[in-house]
Amino acid sequence: MHIVIIGNGVTGITAARFLRKGSSHKITVVSSESEHFFSRTALMYIYMGHMKFEHTKPYEDFFWEKNDITLVYDHAERFDSGAKTVYLKSGMTLSWDKLIIATGSKPNKFGWPGQDLDGVQGLYSKQDLELMEQNTAGIKRGVIVGGGLIGIEVAEMLHSRGIDVTMLVRESGYWNIILPVEESSMINSEIRDHHIDLRLGTELAEIHPGRDGRVASVITSKGDEIGCQFVALTAGVSPNIDLARASDLETGRGVRVNRYFETSAVSNIRRTARYRPHCRKGSGRSSGSIRRRGYSSGLFIENTTMP
Ligand SMILES: Cc1cc2nc3c(=O)[nH]c(=O)nc-3n(C[C@H](O)[C@H](O)[C@H](O)COP(=O)(O)OP(=O)(O)OC[C@H]3O[C@@H](n4cnc5c(N)ncnc54)[C@H](O)[C@@H]3O)c2cc1C
Repeated sequence: MHIVIIGNGVTGITAARFLRKGSSHKITVVSSESEHFFSRTALMYIYMGHMKFEHTKPYEDFFWEKNDITLVYDHAERFDSGAKTVYLKSGMTLSWDKLIIATGSKPNKFGWPGQDLDGVQGLYSKQDLELMEQNTAGIKRGVIVGGGLIGIEVAEMLHSRGIDVTMLVRESGYWNIILPVEESSMINSEIRDHHIDLRLGTELAEIHPGRDGRVASVITSKGDEIGCQFVALTAGVSPNIDLARASDLETGRGVRVNRYFETSAVSNIRRTARYRPHCRKGSGRSSGSIRRRGYSSGLFIENTTMP
C-alpha cells in the first residue's frame, strides 16, 4: 500500500506519523515549500535574528529515514483520481493507493487596487519570509493591513529592525472580536507604547505605486494617505485549494468532503453513496462536528478512509 501525502506542514506530517505508528505502508510526503517539515510559527524569530531556519526543524534529519518516510521536494500540479497518479512539476509522477491532501492555506487578498504591486505581500510561507527580507531591506515605513495574530507578529518583526510601522485595524480595538474590551484596550496601549501607529476602525482602500512601480503609499478608508515602502496583507487566510481545483475535485470555500473527510473523487471511483457533502452555506464555520461541516482546508483522504 502506497500512501502519498501532499503537504509537509503539521497536518501532513501528523498524518504520516500516525500512519507509520500503525502500519508499515510505504509513505511519501510531497512539498514544494521546504525539503523538511519546519515550524511555521517560528518564522518571525528567523527575521528577528533569534533563530536560523535550520533551528526550526521539529525532527532531526535522520528521523525520516529511520521512520521510512520518503520526502519529495516538488510541486504537485494535479492528480488523476481514476489513474491514482499525482503529476509533479519536475515531470515525476507518483502512483498512490491512498492520497491525503494537506495543502494548508494562503493569505487573503480582497481585490484591493494595488494588492499585487512589488513590496506588497502576505506572510505565510518560507518563501514569503525570504521575500520580506528583500522587500524590507533599508525601508523607512511599513503598513500592516489587519489586526490579527500575523499582523501583530509582522509589527514586531518590523519594529525589531527599527522600521516605522502603521497598523490598519478594521475593528475598534485590537482583536476585540476575540478579547474582552478591557484586554483589547490594554493591547492597544501596549502597541502604541511601542510607537506603532495603530489606526483603529480603519481599513485599506487602495495601494499606490511610485515611479519605480513599487508600492509608495496606501489610502485608508478614512481618506488618509500614508507613505510607505512595504505593505503586509495580514487579513486572514483561506484554504489553499489550487491542487483540488486543478484536479477537478468539488470545491467551495474549501474542498468538499463527507463525514469521513472523503472528497468527491470517492464517489467517482467507487460509485457508492458514501460521498454526501454536508454544505452549510453562509457561515463557513464548523459546529465542531465533521458531519455537519462539509468544507475543510486540512486533511482529505482519497478513495478510502484511514486504516
Ligand atoms: C507566520 C505564522 C505564524 C503562526 N503562528 C501560529 C502560532 O503561534 N500558533 C498556532 O497555533 N498557529 C500559528 N500559525 C498557524 C499555523 O502555522 C497553521 O495553522 C498550520 O501551519 C497549518 O498546518 P497545515 O499542515 O494544515 O498547512 P501548512 O502548514 O500550510 O502546510 C501545507 C504545506 O503544503 C504545501 N503545498 C501546498 N500545495 C502544494 C502542492 N500542490 N504541492 C506541494 N506542496 C504543496 C505548502 O507549501 C505547505 O508547505 C501561524 C501561521 C503563520 C503563517
